[in-house]
Amino acid sequence: QDSANVKVVVRVRKFLPREEKRGAKCLIRMDPVTQSTTLLAPDHVDPANSQTKSRKIVEEKLFTFDKSFCSFDESSPDYAHQEDVYCSFGEEFLDHNFNGYHTCIFAYGQTGSGKSYTMMGTPEQPGLIPRTCEAMFRRIDDEAEENTTYNVHVSYFEVYNEHVRDLLMPRTDPPTYLKIRESPADGVYVQGLTDAPVKSYEEIRNLMKIGDINRTTAATKMNDTSSRSHAVFTIHLKSIQHSATTSDTIERSSRMRLVDLAGSERAKATEATGQRLVEGGKINKSLTTLGRVIAALADPRRHGRPGTPNSRAGTPTGTPRKGGASAKAEVVPYRDSVLTWLLKDSLGGNSKTAMVACISPSDYDETLSTLRYADQAKKIRTRAHTNLTSVS
Ligand code: ADP
Ligand code: MG
Repeated sequence: QDSANVKVVVRVRKFLPREEKRGAKCLIRMDPVTQSTTLLAPDHVDPANSQTKSRKIVEEKLFTFDKSFCSFDESSPDYAHQEDVYCSFGEEFLDHNFNGYHTCIFAYGQTGSGKSYTMMGTPEQPGLIPRTCEAMFRRIDDEAEENTTYNVHVSYFEVYNEHVRDLLMPRTDPPTYLKIRESPADGVYVQGLTDAPVKSYEEIRNLMKIGDINRTTAATKMNDTSSRSHAVFTIHLKSIQHSATTSDTIERSSRMRLVDLAGSERAKATEATGQRLVEGGKINKSLTTLGRVIAALADPRRHGRPGTPNSRAGTPTGTPRKGGASAKAEVVPYRDSVLTWLLKDSLGGNSKTAMVACISPSDYDETLSTLRYADQAKKIRTRAHTNLTSVS
């Protein structure tokens, strides 16, 4: 069993054409030595912004993360490429999978901040998901030992308006919603979800393409390709190792979850109206619940004293450790939204988990809220264990 904090990294993107056009100023400074991120006050910097925010007190804020990726200025020697993001923890997480640990990486941030770019990327600039899948098959093909066989399955679903839809199945009219189930053996799962066996990276790439086409997108004022859904891409990796000398068989099975969350901004920020606003409200329910789950898991009352085992932290019942701090830790409201219920294990249980907080370079309010969210996520501890079964 391996107890560790959620790894939290932050990434700022470059200006979009519309930001360049209005003469936006970059409010983000990242220190490559300390990995800190500073959010500068927009006052007197961005006249377009300061008009509406003149009455608010805004000040410089400093945060420290496991890594601060600056993808703002491509000509800078510190510029973080897609490959740099993958190498810094995508690769590490893949190692964990091959060792039999479950992992989860989720991208958080406002619409247009670079979540999909970071997770999926573009054909020219592939993101974490394609890089991870490609590296996984490279390892399976190149390093496979004679006595080990691998088994890979992929699923892809979205949570939209508190409904679960299979992204690997053609869309139907009316839409087909899948039910969530929970069992002692399988934990929380989506009933009837396609779990496609894959033999090569090309096969996964085709499934990713199908899924992205099926993913619900709605044009908003902020970003016309933005999505209002949460997309969850899952890879199941199973290795079966046979020992020639002892005739024992060891089975390792791990699950890698890669989550592209819906935009964190409030619906009013995009001036969404009508149906869009309704959708926004429901999506906020999943995100609000995610916020409450993170707050409950980050609660110091949930953690034992240093050096003492803390076996109860983050259990679904939220029972505080006996003999710990006197106040009771809150119950973690996993079941209050579809997203948090499905991510229960990844957030507070048997998983090594990372969060990529994506930020825009010149949006003080939304960026501050994202950085605070990320700062809180740093306090969460998960307890991963290798998922082994040995059969003789
Ligand atoms: P989100 O998924 O958070 O709504 P996107 O990933 O779609 O945001 O990014 C918004 C736009 O910014 C896209 O056009 C994307 O290509 C671009 N973009 C985002 N991050 C980067 C980056 N690090 N470098 C270059 N372009 C980026
Ligand atoms: Mg997106």
